[in-house]
Amino acid sequence: MNTNDFEILLDSILTENNLQNRLQKDSLSKFALFYQKLIEVNAHTNLTAITEPDEVALKHFADCVTLAGIIPQNVTLIDVGCGGGFPSIPLAIVRPDLQIAALDSTAKKISFVKSVAELIGLYNVDAVCARAEDYVQTKRESYDVCVSRAVARLNILAELCLPFVKKNGMFYAMKSISAAEELEESESSIVKLGGAYKDSVDFELKYLDERVHRTVLAFEKQSKTPSQYPRKFSQIKKNPL
Ligand code: SAM
Repeated sequence: MNTNDFEILLDSILTENNLQNRLQKDSLSKFALFYQKLIEVNAHTNLTAITEPDEVALKHFADCVTLAGIIPQNVTLIDVGCGGGFPSIPLAIVRPDLQIAALDSTAKKISFVKSVAELIGLYNVDAVCARAEDYVQTKRESYDVCVSRAVARLNILAELCLPFVKKNGMFYAMKSISAAEELEESESSIVKLGGAYKDSVDFELKYLDERVHRTVLAFEKQSKTPSQYPRKFSQIKKNPL
């Protein structure tokens, strides 16, 4: 699909989901270039299993644009495990007020995110190749907001994400149908890490016959994360808090 047709498709999907008002002046053309580059690079580097234009527009772009409506204004943000740039690139497109660090441990994915940011002129994204549990050693309690999508179950993810967040900052975990179950199994780990569950936003994205259920779980950082966290990843995985 060419970029013009993709812009028209995305515009109609965002309008159907009442997200059109989140767009900036050049957002549609930036999303179309992102889509084109995603498909081109995905042919040889595994970035996403979703490649059909309507599915990318709905399940990747509209999903991340919904998160954009939840994040406070003018904050510093880290996206842990950004992969091919989700949610960091869509957030950077529709929220130029955010200062974003897109973090992933896979060099090829970070090089893709860097090339997209350069291609579409996103000056508010810094792509970093590192493991979260290593990078946090120099960036503890440094960001107003941490976001993460499709990286790990919440009881593992919280230990990777909450240490990055400043006191009174927020951690948003983008989840699908397992959100309530993951929340329940993570209650004690969130508290041990200095966080507190605040609320969740459930939404359904739609296009033609497709229905996509998503939940954003929001946690507030109430106190500093004890210095023994995060542990080594092997320990986090073997024995979640
Ligand atoms: N967030 C993207 C999305 O929604 O499409 C990517 C999801 S992908 C399934 C998970 C990503 O998390 C991978 O790119 C992987 O390299 C990254 N990842 C997993 N554990 C990580 C860690 N400890 N530190 C940094 N990145 C990590």
